[in-house]
Amino acid sequence: MEASKKLNNTPDLNGYFGEYGGTFVPDQLREILAEITDSYLQIREDPDFISELASLYRHYVGRPSPVYHAATLSKKLGGAGIYFKREDLNHTGAHKINHCLGEALLAKRMGKKKLIAETGAGQHGVALATAAAITGLACDIYMGTVDIEKEHPNVTRMKILGARVIPVSDGLATLKEAVDAAFRAYLEDPLTQFYAIGSVVGPHPFPMMVRDFQQVVGQEAIGQFTQLTGALPDNLVACVGGGSNAIGLFTAFLDEPSIKIYGVEPSGRGFKDGDHAATLSLGKPGIIHGFKCYLLQDEAGDPLPVHSIASGLDYPGVGPQHSYLKDLGRVRYETISDDEAVEAFFVLSRLEGIIPALESAHAVAFTIKLARTLARDKSILVNLSGRGDKDIDYVMKHYGRRYCPPNGYSWPMSTG
Ligand SMILES: *Cc1c(COP(=O)(O)O)cnc(C)c1O
Repeated sequence: MEASKKLNNTPDLNGYFGEYGGTFVPDQLREILAEITDSYLQIREDPDFISELASLYRHYVGRPSPVYHAATLSKKLGGAGIYFKREDLNHTGAHKINHCLGEALLAKRMGKKKLIAETGAGQHGVALATAAAITGLACDIYMGTVDIEKEHPNVTRMKILGARVIPVSDGLATLKEAVDAAFRAYLEDPLTQFYAIGSVVGPHPFPMMVRDFQQVVGQEAIGQFTQLTGALPDNLVACVGGGSNAIGLFTAFLDEPSIKIYGVEPSGRGFKDGDHAATLSLGKPGIIHGFKCYLLQDEAGDPLPVHSIASGLDYPGVGPQHSYLKDLGRVRYETISDDEAVEAFFVLSRLEGIIPALESAHAVAFTIKLARTLARDKSILVNLSGRGDKDIDYVMKHYGRRYCPPNGYSWPMSTG
């Protein structure tokens, strides 16, 4: 079939998914990226590399992560079967360790000595510091001083794991300034350092590479799900920030046209500029951080400020492959607000005993809406990208009065 051929051959040799992706960078960097691409394409075929990564996934991360039938939630919502791919049970608590280990092993095989990255809330920083520790590489994480103040537990984790956390106090002292600083440091010595991008974004080959490392999620799930139910899922759901956990689940299923696939973006506080990060729903094609994608941008093409209660989802761009899948109509991109995500956070906690990350709670919230429209014989497979330990203090501070009043627990979901 034409459409499935298109999906499986992406990206092309220049890193394009349809019109998206590519390499919009200065010449010096273009050469460095071409070298990384060549090394990666060789190394990914190397049986030693493949078995070393597979062994880490199995014995270190704890893969395969289970697929779990959420029977109580399914019943409550009308009977369609809801299943979770439990990436929250991975070592370090989310899917990010999958690509961080891949990138660290690749860097090591390329002879690099140090991993460099920026981090916002610290999730990518912690996963990368973990991968650096296990592979024996040095690790520098650039982080805005405002974020360092806000995300103390993750800063402490990175330090304990042996990473250097380098404070960035320029400008607003948050993620954007941290990206700029990390990038400057990388360009000073690209020979011994490796810039490890934290999602399926950035210039070629990163969207392809990070996707390849995350594919394990869907590859496992397809076998686990069919073994549990005797069939393929009817629907897939995952949250989309840059898009790595979503593409990781979706890739193995893209060829099955009968499966409906949903990516969930944050509509935050509403649809005014600066209040959301619903890039695919409201953005237009543009260029950010060296690649072309849907982008929330102003008249001049500069990225707009974004907001989500889930810091892993507030990025004004999105992976080029998602941009392409949207245009092809293969994946539908929907939105969930901050309040809906928090409600789903409590629903899953109280019905299933699983506290999800606020990012993953967006996927759960959309699943709750979708399940109510489905017949009992239909199924939904949801990527539960991470656990919510990191979010509990924030949620209690801002939503505790509503969901955990002192005289008893209020039930989060209308049962009607
Ligand atoms: C970082 C993060 C995300 C968002 O990143 P993607 O690349 O879109 O997957 C989602 N869930 C969790 C738990 C995260 O830590």
